[in-house]
Amino acid sequence: MQKLRIAVLSRNPELYSTKRLVAAGEARGHEMLVIDHGKCDLLIEKKKPQIYYKGKLLENIDAVIPRIGASITFYGTAVVRQFEMMNVFSTLNSQALVCSRDKLQSMQVLSKAGLNMPKTTFTNNSKNVSAVINKVGGAPCIIKLLEGTQGVGVVLAETKSAAESVLEAFNGLQARVIVQEFIAEAKGADLRVFVVDGNVVGAMKRQGKEGEFRSNLHRGGTAELFELTEEEENAALKAAKKLGLSVCGVDMLQSNSGPMIMEVNSSPGLEGIEQATKLDIAKNIIRYIERNV
Ligand code: ADP
Ligand code: MG
Repeated sequence: MQKLRIAVLSRNPELYSTKRLVAAGEARGHEMLVIDHGKCDLLIEKKKPQIYYKGKLLENIDAVIPRIGASITFYGTAVVRQFEMMNVFSTLNSQALVCSRDKLQSMQVLSKAGLNMPKTTFTNNSKNVSAVINKVGGAPCIIKLLEGTQGVGVVLAETKSAAESVLEAFNGLQARVIVQEFIAEAKGADLRVFVVDGNVVGAMKRQGKEGEFRSNLHRGGTAELFELTEEEENAALKAAKKLGLSVCGVDMLQSNSGPMIMEVNSSPGLEGIEQATKLDIAKNIIRYIERNV
């Protein structure tokens, strides 16, 4: 097999996911680099897109694995796009990255594709908060900041008056939020399905800690290996495909009407899923690169 030069775009070489990708690439005989996209300068001129890293020209990179944090989406996307312009293979398409960071846009795409999801409304800071809440069936309901991550910015409003005051508060701050039907039967749990190149390579069920409706591991949730039904697997694969993501984590709720897609993560962490499933997910990502470069 050909030896490749693969760069993990990551702001921190010590992160679990970064270290695992480097180890998996080296185990398959590749040269692995960690490049901090925050320290890349882009040079744009006729027919010669270039990237300088810490002042030096970056050359001969065969592929990149972007791990772009939410706080640096704009710059990270520009760097990924520049690699694309240089004909470097990327495991994450820059356009798909932008779309995936906008929960509303993602849901619009997925709803058009016929995927099931919690009923959701979005308004331009409508003064009539009561009507907005009624559209998703009233309280209890979920109110979510459009660009939140790790469960921060997701509120469960148990009563109509609580929902109204939360919505008014967010509106007052001109924060962009969606109001969503609360899927109570999910019981504080969700499924994280890890997709690589059109295949499910691992799945886990995450359970929020006692009394917590959010299953995020960052909020103290726990995870275990999960065997998906065919319906769940198909929903995850379709969501990944429609959003143009070849490596992603699809999150869904188990509802009375089948799996409901909640969000699709374009830089999904490896720690939780590898620990819960005992699978080598990083290797799957490296092998995906090998098939395409
Ligand atoms: P984040 O991007 O911050 O992780 P999510 O939309 O994934 O935001 O929501 C965080 C968690 O809250 C989910 O993992 C899930 O457990 C719970 N949750 C979110 N939306 C709903 C909903 N509509 N019904 C029930 N639980 C929900
Ligand atoms: Mg989430």
